[in-house]
Amino acid sequence: MLYLTDPDRLSDVLAEEPRYRSTQLHEWLYEHPVLSTTDMTNLPDGLRRDLEPMHWPFTLDLEQTADGGRTVKWLFRCGDGSPVETVLMGYPSRTTLCISSQVGCAMGCTFCATGQFGFDRHLEAGEIVAQVAYANAHLREQPLPNSPSRVTNVVFMGMGEPLANYDRTMEAVRRMIEHMQLSARAITISTVGLVPGMRRMLLEPWPLNLAVSLHSTIPAERSRIVPINDRYPIDDVVAAAGEYYRVKGRRVSLEWTLIAGENDSDDEAIGLARIARDIHAHVNVIAVNPTPMSDDAPPTRDAMQRFVGMLRSKGANVTIRDTRGKDIDAACGQLRLRAEER
Ligand code: SAH
Ligand code: SF4
Repeated sequence: MLYLTDPDRLSDVLAEEPRYRSTQLHEWLYEHPVLSTTDMTNLPDGLRRDLEPMHWPFTLDLEQTADGGRTVKWLFRCGDGSPVETVLMGYPSRTTLCISSQVGCAMGCTFCATGQFGFDRHLEAGEIVAQVAYANAHLREQPLPNSPSRVTNVVFMGMGEPLANYDRTMEAVRRMIEHMQLSARAITISTVGLVPGMRRMLLEPWPLNLAVSLHSTIPAERSRIVPINDRYPIDDVVAAAGEYYRVKGRRVSLEWTLIAGENDSDDEAIGLARIARDIHAHVNVIAVNPTPMSDDAPPTRDAMQRFVGMLRSKGANVTIRDTRGKDIDAACGQLRLRAEER
């Protein structure tokens, strides 16, 4: 499998070929990815045919488009049948790819479709990187309207908890930076708050962005919707996020999935604003996308405005994240649900 091979060791799979072939293949896999080896125009026909079955570590199972072509969602299947979800979103000045780091997730957050499935396995570094390469190969043929025709930003907000798959995630990050010309500042690791992993990130050489999924400031309530809070309590999570900003100089984002009647009170807004001010963080609020296995509902527009208004009046820096691809189940784990229903 080409993407499961270290990009510096491609000569291992090209044993019989002259050495310059690995440089050519590297370009087709990482610099200018193509959907099919048929398009690797400077390789001999026979070699292109031999490489085709080894090209991608997964096959495309479902592709859906929404938002006037500005959102594309893929469900891939690995050789063992594992589903991998990836979402591409085009904006005027950036093209953002939301990628998966695991098949399923062991963290069990109650409102999350991936969490409701439980954990299957970690993704390999190559399976993580191949999602970015596939998106670039797709964009080469079908760019999104009025958006850059390459992935400019990567967010680890698909299926899985990246810091529970730490070494493979960081190896994937290294390949994106060193082999795919992505800037560390354009890569965001989103975590539910695995404190040891957040602290390890301080030692990495790159100024990566860190997003922390908070969802509640009240310990008992957070433990209810984000069970891992029992192991890594909110105070420790906030302390680690504050340290990340101090050491790396990168503003942390605090993710808040707003659920009607659960975490949309004034008290929660006041607590969240205080934390955001204390650690110079930015708050991203998103309305929950309902999942079949939970009764969680999004807040009304008024309740959303009230929550955000309260945050701002207390001095927090807030963005409301749009729910891209709502009609194609683009929230974490939801396309997989759809596929499993077939
Ligand atoms: N495990 C990591 C990254 C993947 S989840 C984390 O939890 O941060 C990425 C983001 O999607 C998280 O902020 C998560 O809370 C959010 N999310 C999960 N399910 C959702 C849903 N049903 N509606 C809205 N956001 C959801
Ligand atoms: Fe896992 Fe993140 Fe979903 Fe929680 S929200 S279950 S950590 S993927």
